[in-house]
Amino acid sequence: MITGSFDVVGAVGPLRFFGHLAPRALSHGYLMSGPAGVGKKTFALRLAQSLLCVTPKATLLGYCNHCSGCTRVAARTHPDLYVAEGQLKIGDRDGATGFHETDESSARDIVRQLSLHSYAGGKRVFVLGDVDFTREAANALLKFFEEPPADVVLLVTSAQPGRLLATIRSRLIEVTFGRLRVEEIAAVLERNGADPDEARRAATVGNGSLTRAKAFLDEGEGATRDAAVDWFFAAVDGREVDHSQWATRAALEDGLDTIKTLTRDWLVLQLAGSAVPLLASDQTTAIERLPKRDPLVLARALAAIGDAERIARTNVTPALVAGLVRMALAPTK
Ligand SMILES: [Zn+2]
Repeated sequence: MITGSFDVVGAVGPLRFFGHLAPRALSHGYLMSGPAGVGKKTFALRLAQSLLCVTPKATLLGYCNHCSGCTRVAARTHPDLYVAEGQLKIGDRDGATGFHETDESSARDIVRQLSLHSYAGGKRVFVLGDVDFTREAANALLKFFEEPPADVVLLVTSAQPGRLLATIRSRLIEVTFGRLRVEEIAAVLERNGADPDEARRAATVGNGSLTRAKAFLDEGEGATRDAAVDWFFAAVDGREVDHSQWATRAALEDGLDTIKTLTRDWLVLQLAGSAVPLLASDQTTAIERLPKRDPLVLARALAAIGDAERIARTNVTPALVAGLVRMALAPTK
């Protein structure tokens, strides 16, 4: 149940979870986990706004968008909302003087913030979006969990919850987010002014991630993907192929991702037939036309592309990375 607005896309499970939660049953820490780009942080911020909205309402979710709380949240000036992203760390021990802080948002900073009292007399909300806790930062946060202040709510979002310290993760209530549906993404893109056909195509390529679909529309990633798709089908055929359109420093990561998705789909199609939907659904017909290949060989090719992705992050040339992938995909003689 929602009173007022709660503007998110998808998130059926989390909406049900928080929608049925009585405001007084709210815990002091939640972990919002799920793939990148599906709206975990947006949800966390909307939940924060719901908690800081001062218009009285019967439900936990929902805000009015015009009270002093909502206005301050929108302007990111609410004194009881703390938002951090990226690496959260405490610097190296600095001799007898204790810790040396270098980052803008250190865990120490947060622990200090956590010990303050609410400005507006209500809840205080901490949104830690995809933070990478250092061990020291995590330990500092554990102090918070040992004796959490009554009105503090901590919302941690992560695409890789396995990387959180078990001691932190076990103290958070995990709420999982699934991939978005193509229709959901396309609808958002269309609302933002995209042409319906383009919206649909970007949504398909986005593969459940609104962020990726938007990037595809905004940054002309369509060209990279088209080039990588053509390159993939040629490489599988054993044809000598030009990689210059996608194997560049700027486009390499996206190109590899496209090729990996296609290879995964080829393997899935052979193992499961049409029972499992393909990720590159716009390429279904072309993938179905691909020759049969030993699934073990395809699984090895997939692993080799994963290796190539790791190598790509080191200082090797994109051409070399493309060469490795081409060898992995070439027909076996
Ligand atoms: Zn409000």
